[in-house]
Amino acid sequence: MEKENKSIHEFDFSLIAEYFSNLQRQGPGSPEVTIKALSFIEGLSTDSRIADLGCGSGGQTMVLARNTPGKITGIDLFPLFIDQFNKQAEQLKIQDRVKGISGSMDDLPFQPEELDLIWSEGAIYNIGFERGLSYWRNFLKKGGYVAVSEASWFTTERPSEIEAFWQDAYPGIDTIPNKVAQLQKSGYVPIASFVLPENCWIEHFYTPQAEAQEVFLKKYAGNKNAADFIANQRHEEQLYMKYKAYYGYVFYIGKKL
Ligand code: SAH
Repeated sequence: MEKENKSIHEFDFSLIAEYFSNLQRQGPGSPEVTIKALSFIEGLSTDSRIADLGCGSGGQTMVLARNTPGKITGIDLFPLFIDQFNKQAEQLKIQDRVKGISGSMDDLPFQPEELDLIWSEGAIYNIGFERGLSYWRNFLKKGGYVAVSEASWFTTERPSEIEAFWQDAYPGIDTIPNKVAQLQKSGYVPIASFVLPENCWIEHFYTPQAEAQEVFLKKYAGNKNAADFIANQRHEEQLYMKYKAYYGYVFYIGKKL
């Protein structure tokens, strides 16, 4: 029997990349939340080296760049997002200190202990929270920071429909205390964790998708993959609206010992 909740990896990747490239963000978040997370990080200067992993088209990277000195490298698997990233940096005239390159977050082009800060919004799940944190730690200087947002449970028990959805989509989802313990176990002092407000999902992520969905469905009229993909996005949004008391994104900030 076909599964009801197809996860994103079952669809054509280039279609997904095209769809998301028409949006400011590829995951829940907001400029206010990026700035709030940044407020926990001390000691950045013009010499600082920062990486934004799974940067997408760079929505949050440009916010980071406006609010931090230092050099930022954005890395994303999809070249289409990186092209948009570099165009934005040029428009903002910050291309000499903010650059996007395509690559994978589990095969980083940095030297050991080169970075002061590793940023990653809604993307570490691609390689797993603990695995990503442990691997990325090698590239941070002693005293450097990691700041990641990650899907998390707000409660210890959940209705079975939403539990089943996440078990299929990302079984690594866990409660906030468990995620903080994983951060610590991966070699960081937990500095802060905070829940992203609902507007990060609704105003900044789902609402802008409504128009993008219409455009996409028109362009790919008759394409079953495209129709399934949009149905899946809408289903995810409905689940969020129904169960947002039980899960959301949480920012975790840690400092390398
Ligand atoms: N940080 C952005 C994008 C989040 S969506 C935002 O908050 O808007 C997750 C991103 O991770 C996508 O852009 C996807 O292309 C990227 N990604 C997926 N697997 C990756 C990998 N192995 N290495 C680097 N980026 C990856």
